[in-house]
Amino acid sequence: MKLVTFSSGTGPCVGVVDAGARLVRDATALLPHGAGVLDVIEMWAELGPVLAERAGELPAQALDGVTLLAPVPVPRRNIFCVGKNYRDHAVEFGRSGYDTPDRSEAIPEYPVVFTKATTAVIGPFADIDPHHGVTSELDYEAELAVIIGRGGRGIAKDRAFEHVWGYTAVNDFTARDLQRIHKQWLIGKSLDTHCPMGPYAVSADEVPDVTALQVESFVNGERRQSAPVKDLIFDIPELIATISAGITLLPGDIIATGTPAGVGIGFDPPRFVGSGDVVEVAITGLGAQRNRIA
Ligand code: MG
Repeated sequence: MKLVTFSSGTGPCVGVVDAGARLVRDATALLPHGAGVLDVIEMWAELGPVLAERAGELPAQALDGVTLLAPVPVPRRNIFCVGKNYRDHAVEFGRSGYDTPDRSEAIPEYPVVFTKATTAVIGPFADIDPHHGVTSELDYEAELAVIIGRGGRGIAKDRAFEHVWGYTAVNDFTARDLQRIHKQWLIGKSLDTHCPMGPYAVSADEVPDVTALQVESFVNGERRQSAPVKDLIFDIPELIATISAGITLLPGDIIATGTPAGVGIGFDPPRFVGSGDVVEVAITGLGAQRNRIA
């Protein structure tokens, strides 16, 4: 099932999408009062079957006629992110000189985990704020994001997929100058609007083999990144096991799994993006997002 959050006259609504027919159905009537996508994910055992059985009866409207917000517009807490998780990207990042203090092209020995503030999240077609005066080195990172369903701590690798609700696409948009000078990545990764998400939250049953999905980005129509999820250095079970070893994962937690080679700083000289540029992130079966830099 593909869930969205879209704006209506009365506020954000949960929608069930038929992507083929380009239709969205407002699921409000089938959900507890005020429930958002985060609540639906948390109560999936109860609400998933109701939506699967009855969403088709709801009145449909054109998907292209509504404003989509991020599927999880306000995550419960910071988004977990993984750095240097595709070999070719680890090399291009190390070579770029932006990976201080490491400056290493080596493949990481353990997953590099950081977070992105919830206030960075925007919808799949919203404008990105260039933050003139704060940063002058804007870059894009197309990523598959895992959405946790059942929470837990000490999740074993071979049970990890039992805790995955589904997937979405994220652009781990980055202010490279801030990432470099502050050493810790939080500020450079968390400027407001620098986490386009969506368009859909797609339940795992629609993704029989997540490793087969292709993660791609385009800048003004030019393909910059393209790699299958199977190229991850630390795969999804490994990431869930690593993070949950001592941190309780919660329903709705989002883990952005890392970006492939082809980001702006992978070029020499770097090809940063700026006002007027349009960045698209697309993942097989998860839809495409398209954000203009204001
Ligand atoms: Mg990233």
